[in-house]
This record gives sequence, C-alpha cells and structure tokens, in this order.
Amino acid sequence: MILVRENLIEVEKRIQEACKRAGRNRDEVTLISVSKTKPVEMILEAMECGMRDFGENKVQEIVDKYEIIKKELNWHMIGHLQRNKVKYIVDKVCLIHSVDSIRLALQIDEEAKKKNVICPILIEVNIAGEDSKYGVTSGEAVTLIEQISRLENVSIKGLMTIAPFVENAEENRIHFRNLRNLQVDIKSKNIDNVNMDILSMGMTGDFDVAIEEGATMVRVGTGIFGERNYNIGV
Ligand SMILES: *Cc1c(COP(=O)(O)O)cnc(C)c1O
Repeated sequence: MILVRENLIEVEKRIQEACKRAGRNRDEVTLISVSKTKPVEMILEAMECGMRDFGENKVQEIVDKYEIIKKELNWHMIGHLQRNKVKYIVDKVCLIHSVDSIRLALQIDEEAKKKNVICPILIEVNIAGEDSKYGVTSGEAVTLIEQISRLENVSIKGLMTIAPFVENAEENRIHFRNLRNLQVDIKSKNIDNVNMDILSMGMTGDFDVAIEEGATMVRVGTGIFGERNYNIGV
C-alpha cells in the first residue's frame, strides 16, 4: 500500500529544505506529480492533498485520464511526442516539455491553429550529451529556438532536461548548472516571442540538487507514487 499523502509530505519537506539552502522562495518551484503508469485513484489521492500539476509521458494515457478526471488539472506532457499524436493533446495539456525539433514544433503550431489555442512548450536539451536521450545539444538549442519563435501558435517558456541516471545526485549538479547557464545565455539574446522563465529539471533522485541549481519545475514520480511496474499498465 503506497501512502501518497505521506510521500507528498516527505517530498514537500525536501523541496522546502532545498529552497532554504539555495535562498529561494518555495513558490518559485512547481512540483509536478508524475503519474505515468499509475491509476486514477492515486491521482485523486494526490489531488486531495492539493496537487494540481500532473506529468505523463504517453498521449493515450493523458487522453484516458483526462476523460475520467473532469476536474481542472494542469497536465504536463513530459515524454517523447510523435508528430501524428500532437492533435490528441494540444488543447488538453498546459505545457509540452519535450520539444526537440522544428518538425515537431511545426506540427504543434498547425494543430494549435486548428484548435485556436497557443501551445506553451519547453525545449528539451540533452545537456549531458547522452547517446540514448532525446533533446537537442546546447549548441543546437539557440538555432531551434530562433526558428520556433517565428511560429504564431507555439510559445516557448523555457528549457527542460532529463539528467543521467546516477547513484549520487551530486554527479548531476554540473548538468543542472549547465542548463541554467544556457537559460541565462538565451535570455540575454532577447529573442522576440521567447520566454525563458521555466527550468524543468530534477526527478525523485536528484530534485534537491536541481532546485539548488535553479529548477522552477521538478518532476517527481517514484517519490510520490512508488516504484512503477511497466508490466501491469494503467
Ligand atoms: C518518469 C519521468 C520522471 C519521474 O521520474 P522519477 O524518477 O520516478 O521521479 C520525470 N521526468 C520524466 C521525463 C519522466 O519520464
């Protein structure tokens, strides 16, 4: 039996301690509960604790849960997004964290236009340069952002990264710091129609370090809902 409420208290404590160490206000950091593979009952439990931001990495799962939970929630698309599936979520999510190509951005722009919405996005950066990861390199980020900035129905809000899987969270500090530096760098270019306020970084194992390095959104799954079992599904 996973006690979502108790886990949330623990996560909240870690967030507050990290904010304190970094001299930041708690309200600068949004906690996203990553509910992928987890049942609706658990989301409802987190909602009872006041949670409103939920992260999912599969389009079908967002659509299914969106249908069931009628209450206004902020759904975050945090996983790799295929172009042919953009149409199903473009008007349902509050933020797509995983945009890493102009082709995907063009598709989002097109579908957003059809639905008469402006879709907020983050640029996913493969900050550690891992072969296995989606995301653009830091070098490619500026060019991509300049291209996307010209699209009318897409609005860039910042950067996202998935740091490497490490035993010791301190090993990821350099990557979080590098993403923060990239954010500052891009901000200084004052590109029209580009906002760089959001830094989505840090997961269960390392969100404390990410907050110390400037994260404004942390994505926490296991720490709230327990281990995932990919064999069982929703
Ligand atoms: C699954 C996932 C998370 C949450 O990971 P935990 O280690 O369970 O906290 C965060 N971000 C992304 C992009 C994910 O896919």
